[in-house]
Amino acid sequence: MKPIVAIVGRPNVGKSTLFNRMAGERISIVEDTPGVTRDRIYAEAEWLGKYFTIIDTGGIETKTDELIPQKMREQAELAMDTADVILFVVDGRLGMTPQDREIAIMLMKTKKPVLLVANKIDNNNIPDYFYDFYELGLGEPIPVSASLALGTGDLLDEIFKNF
Ligand code: GDP
Ligand code: MG
Repeated sequence: MKPIVAIVGRPNVGKSTLFNRMAGERISIVEDTPGVTRDRIYAEAEWLGKYFTIIDTGGIETKTDELIPQKMREQAELAMDTADVILFVVDGRLGMTPQDREIAIMLMKTKKPVLLVANKIDNNNIPDYFYDFYELGLGEPIPVSASLALGTGDLLDEIFKNF
């Protein structure tokens, strides 16, 4: 069966950029405005002859008193329910934020494999606070640059270790 991979994380970490990179086409909307992806977007993708479905979710806002973020949160939860493996994307350049911690707590409730993806690592200089992400309890952060397609092959290899 074709595995379903869902990309989650707070707004602006590069989920849609990663989605487009993995889907090999520009389907999802990338904007500088945080949280612009409002709907789940699906694509069929392939890696070394293996097929998978990838889902881009809107960013998970942890502030739930607003209608749209609440809806986005619900969609992300739905995507996580559907997924066989979850990519939790964080901003590896900016470091950990309180929202990342909240999402990590949400993800600990799932029994599904979660891969922690530290995006925006555009060169070999890994910042010191990169290692703070270990605190999330989701294992080793996998450094990638979705923009430059760095580390995405290794990430796909990691995904397929689960199947
Ligand atoms: P989303 O809200 O999580 O879907 O994030 P987007 O994919 O829309 O990206 C948010 C911003 O981060 C955009 O300005 C992207 O160009 C930028 N971005 C995404 N991936 C990378 C990356 O690997 N490196 C850098 N430097 N910027 C990135
Ligand atoms: Mg997006």
